[in-house]
Formats: sequence, structure tokens, C-alpha cells
Amino acid sequence: MMYVFICPLCGCARMIASKRFADCPVCGRAMANCEISYEDWVQLPEEERERLIAQYREAECGKLTYYRPNKHYDSRENNYYM
Ligand SMILES: [Zn+2]
Repeated sequence: MMYVFICPLCGCARMIASKRFADCPVCGRAMANCEISYEDWVQLPEEERERLIAQYREAECGKLTYYRPNKHYDSRENNYYM
């Protein structure tokens, strides 16, 4: 499964397969896994993507782990929290 990661600092978005963590290619910061699959991401209209990116940019870094706007993805994969 491909995941979309968003950098909370510069807003850069990146797709990564089967990884939970990623660093931003632009500023080197740890990126937030935005809990949305690549398949869903490409279906999103441009303004929805912008809205998601804005959400992550506004989130406090310390709270990013708990900032999960698409909780339904949890049920699709086991051991997410391990
Ligand atoms: Zn960045």
C-alpha cells in the first residue's frame, strides 16, 4: 500500500510504499503520514489536497502522531501501532 506523507514545515507531499516514516526531500524534516492511500490521493480534487496539506501544516509537530484525520484506515491494516 502506498501512503502519502506531508511535510509539516514546507507542505511538500510525497508518496511512499510500505513505509511508516519518511524525511522531507526538500528540508529534511520528518514527514507526517497523512493516513491516506495513494489511490485515494490521486482521486482527490486539487482543493481537497490543499486542504489536507494545510491541516498538517497547522498541526503542532508534537501532536502529529495523534493527528489522524482518516481514522478508518486503521481498520484496514493490523499492528499499525506496533
Ligand atoms: Zn519539507
